[in-house]
Amino acid sequence: MVIGAGPAGLTAAYQLAKAGDPVLVAEADDVVGGISRTVERDGWRFDIGGHRFFTKVAPVEDLWNEILPAEDFLLRPRKSRIFYKGKYYDYPLRAFNALINLGPKEAFLCGCSYLRARIAPPKDQTNYEGWLVARFGWRLYRTFFKTYTEKVWGVPVSEMPADFAAQRVKNLDLGKAILNALTPKRNQTEITTLIEEFRYPKFGPGMMWEVCREKVEKLGGRVLMETRVDTIHIEGGRATGVTLSGGGASRFEPASHVISSMPMAELVAALDPPPPPEVRSAGADLHYRDFLTVALVVPVEAGFPDNWIYVHAPDVEVGRIQNFGQWSPYMVREGTTCLGLEYFVFEGDRLWESDDDTLIAMATRELDALGLVTPDKVERGYVVRVKKAYPYYDFKYRENVATVVAWLASNAPNVHLVGRNGMHKYNNQDHSMFTAMLTVENIHGANNDIWAVNVEEEYHEEGPATDARPGAGTGRDAPMLPWREGSDSPR
Ligand SMILES: Cc1cc2nc3c(=O)[nH]c(=O)nc-3n(C[C@H](O)[C@H](O)[C@H](O)COP(=O)(O)OP(=O)(O)OC[C@H]3O[C@@H](n4cnc5c(N)ncnc54)[C@H](O)[C@@H]3O)c2cc1C
Repeated sequence: MVIGAGPAGLTAAYQLAKAGDPVLVAEADDVVGGISRTVERDGWRFDIGGHRFFTKVAPVEDLWNEILPAEDFLLRPRKSRIFYKGKYYDYPLRAFNALINLGPKEAFLCGCSYLRARIAPPKDQTNYEGWLVARFGWRLYRTFFKTYTEKVWGVPVSEMPADFAAQRVKNLDLGKAILNALTPKRNQTEITTLIEEFRYPKFGPGMMWEVCREKVEKLGGRVLMETRVDTIHIEGGRATGVTLSGGGASRFEPASHVISSMPMAELVAALDPPPPPEVRSAGADLHYRDFLTVALVVPVEAGFPDNWIYVHAPDVEVGRIQNFGQWSPYMVREGTTCLGLEYFVFEGDRLWESDDDTLIAMATRELDALGLVTPDKVERGYVVRVKKAYPYYDFKYRENVATVVAWLASNAPNVHLVGRNGMHKYNNQDHSMFTAMLTVENIHGANNDIWAVNVEEEYHEEGPATDARPGAGTGRDAPMLPWREGSDSPR
């Protein structure tokens, strides 16, 4: 039994079906792909966030190639820049490009601010703000780090601890960045290649998962859509099955193993009988950052050459803008492109609760305010809301996850947690899939530690030879964050 038809669930199902095991997938939604789905409205296709297919895990790469024929799996050029005060800055940030764009006066002031910070660095560098200011100075910090990071995570940078940055963004400072720009590096070509290209299914990421679903079904597996797992039944130290609901009915489905990619918090709440109070509270104390995209259809010439741009301006709420036509020309209708304005939110907050028309009007206004597209060019708009886009790493999440995992190991060892929200771990598609592949091997007798699948390894543009860049800038890094006890938001 597999819960969820996202990358992790369908990977598990495919591997099981290939091995000849009977497999049933229950998917609550009416499309496959989970967060990696393609959303289609009136012939335009949107990706929730822009999913680059990039991995250092060879078995995952092989599986992608096995699922999708080469002609449907495009190799795309990558371009993404920071858009700030009408100018485009290289991303990852390059010192000289940044200084030239800032202009001589601002560059001079940034230089002075950097020197001041070197002479008298902030006393408290245990928070991310102090850590960044010590390395860049206040002025560059405010321009390139503060606003975007706060848009993504919804908390002040001064409340984020610095240790995540210190781990992930080793040796980052302006002085070294300038030196890097001047000295050619040994493995620069390889890293540049990784930064500049990625694979992408012709019709968006969901295409990979639609084809995967067909393969599972061809091999005899069943994928039930609009079917939710409401309850996981536990008896005699094992899960015995699940209660499924869909089409107005519910029924018990027996299972020898339950592979779960549903959010860990919801899994704990669905256990029957309920686990002890400390396990229930650990599950209930796991939090998420949510996400919404306002996709605006504009003439193709109104778009930009980037796949996406980062928006650092503090006077607009949009954090990133995708240009879906640049991801794949098959995503859009001829003569148009679609700009996806991304807002990082908490479920239930002001933006989340705004109706679609209000959000479309706001996004149109913001594109205009940024000087990118005037309102008369916006033909129409669509809103896509995504719950639980990011598992939230608050100070207690590690302990909470450990409590749940330990309880399951001793009371229901045939419940296997996989994927991103399934493990409450910052897994991208490849790692979500890899945890599912290793889990299937475990079911067949192996002893893999899926928690060792490493999201912290050098990844995408995070290699050491790149220049200075905002540590939290990809929107995919995961700092540890504060969370107000007993509340539904951090503030
Ligand atoms: C903004 C953004 C950008 C990203 N960019 C990239 C990128 O460039 N490259 C990349 O590789 N990854 C990227 N990712 C990460 C990628 O989206 C995830 O790693 C991946 O989708 C996780 O797969 P999953 O199967 O674990 O979970 P999900 O995709 O969340 O799928 C879980 C599925 O389970 C279903 N479900 C939940 N509860 C139940 C239930 N009770 N019963 C039945 N079904 C249920 C859900 O409906 C969903 O379909 C990005 C993510 C975000 C948010």
